[in-house]
Amino acid sequence: MDADTRRAWVDIDLGALLRNARTLASRAGKPLLPMVKADAYGLGAVKVARALEALRPWGFGVATVREGEELRAAGIRRPILVFTPLFFTEFADVRRLGLTPTLGAPAAIQAWAESGGGDWHLAVDTGMSRAGIPWFAIGQVTELVQRTPPSGAFTHFHSSERNDGSLEVQQGRFREAIGALGTVPPLLHAENSPAIERQSPSPWSLVRPGVFLYGVGGGDGSVASPENVANLRARVVEVRRVRDGETVSYSATYRAVGERRIATVAAGYADGYRRSLSNCGTALVRGHRVPVAGLVTMDMTMIDVTDAACDVGDVATLMGRDGDEVLDVIDVARTADVSPYELLVGLKLRASRRYFGGEE
Ligand SMILES: *Cc1c(COP(=O)(O)O)cnc(C)c1O
Repeated sequence: MDADTRRAWVDIDLGALLRNARTLASRAGKPLLPMVKADAYGLGAVKVARALEALRPWGFGVATVREGEELRAAGIRRPILVFTPLFFTEFADVRRLGLTPTLGAPAAIQAWAESGGGDWHLAVDTGMSRAGIPWFAIGQVTELVQRTPPSGAFTHFHSSERNDGSLEVQQGRFREAIGALGTVPPLLHAENSPAIERQSPSPWSLVRPGVFLYGVGGGDGSVASPENVANLRARVVEVRRVRDGETVSYSATYRAVGERRIATVAAGYADGYRRSLSNCGTALVRGHRVPVAGLVTMDMTMIDVTDAACDVGDVATLMGRDGDEVLDVIDVARTADVSPYELLVGLKLRASRRYFGGEE
């Protein structure tokens, strides 16, 4: 989609993305396997992957074959791992596109080998109970692994942002499972963003950052903080005086106390500005913080600009930076009572995207 700044758009700072990636690479001391699934968390997988190419990552991680296909079509030649269990019917496409499946189920490993084999990574479940061979059942795949050796093995942490001992437990289980395989696959990887923030250097061969690249960090014990990457902006399309006692938006949940000046912004929940920010969100206009007034609607959001200069055509920032003020993704997500991951992913709904910075 072309950048269209007439209504609502997301400004994506590829320079900040690269600096965040460098921060993690230097903490880990190991090559990056950046996760660009879900269209790079809503920010555009092709643009993000091309920008990250400047850092020569080991490869990229996606969730589906189609996501891998999009990167291949854009000319990405590095390894691309597909991090969800695949149906056997997808194996032909995986092979044609030169993607690397992550397999854990014995039947899947066998089917991959019998259908022609090729590069694959072994998924080990150490407590997430989502995908992969459970660490305690590793014996079920040792023979298969010896016959069709994977080039890598990995696990995934469920709570690495918390200093609750679970990361250590899961790493212990992973080591135990790898030890039981007989032969150690050449590449071992485990860490998502919060784990990379916490352990330096990485004890594994590759690291798999996602959300930190896109500007979200700061779990327990984190010493690295990411720069803001995504900025949701929209134009002010009308400004009106609302008399004392009048209401704003659906269900009349906002009632003016005294005369108020209300601006209508051309972005709503169809642009990823969550409805749960109704009456509690904050926007930035000309570098000033102003409150959301009334319910966020599908296409428009009203803000109270009684105390701020604001005219039709002005740009309101609903998330991200305007001048010295920043509406951090984590803070907006907390106010909206959603995860920062969900908030980012929602940005691809309708708003167009404008990229700047980076070395592309
Ligand atoms: C999404 C994902 C990651 C990245 O997680 P973040 O918390 O965003 O850094 C890493 N590994 C796997 C298997 C994933 O699915």
